[in-house]
Amino acid sequence: MLGHKDILKMGNPILRQIAEPFTDEEIKSEETKSLIKKMWKIMDEAGGIGLAAPQISISKQLAIIKLDESSERYPEIETSPEYVMFNPSIEYLTDEKQGNWEGCLSVPGLRGYVERPSQISVNFKDENLEFKKLNLEGFLATVFQHEIDHLFGKLYVDRVADKELLMYEDELKNLEN
Ligand code: ZN
Repeated sequence: MLGHKDILKMGNPILRQIAEPFTDEEIKSEETKSLIKKMWKIMDEAGGIGLAAPQISISKQLAIIKLDESSERYPEIETSPEYVMFNPSIEYLTDEKQGNWEGCLSVPGLRGYVERPSQISVNFKDENLEFKKLNLEGFLATVFQHEIDHLFGKLYVDRVADKELLMYEDELKNLEN
């Protein structure tokens, strides 16, 4: 049984692959339903707010997101609905960027300051094969971009423009205090 110890870490080549899209048949399958359940469990155990299938060695275009105001890793956030997305794509609605300190279960212990477009539109299929189009802004827009990056072989550390702003969590806490 997969657990949070099975989350791949930076350096594993699967994290650098472009993941395969799902067919409708695959989305509907029992195997996928149990994969989604497993992913929620692993994300929960790890205290994350998002998880992409490649992070547990499955190079397929599936990611889940749920912001939780009781998160210890991200104390300032508001609770969001649960999102399950297959085969997502992003449209950028503005050139304006917003910066956030991002972390990643595949890059334990580190945080990096990443600037990303502040308003996006995301298209995907959910677990009921319904097309969704969400207009997002704020931290949720960042989280969606972070998770979708995982499906295309990218990690947030690639997007830290100022490498002095890539640091260990403890050091960031020291700076903030
Ligand atoms: Zn991540």
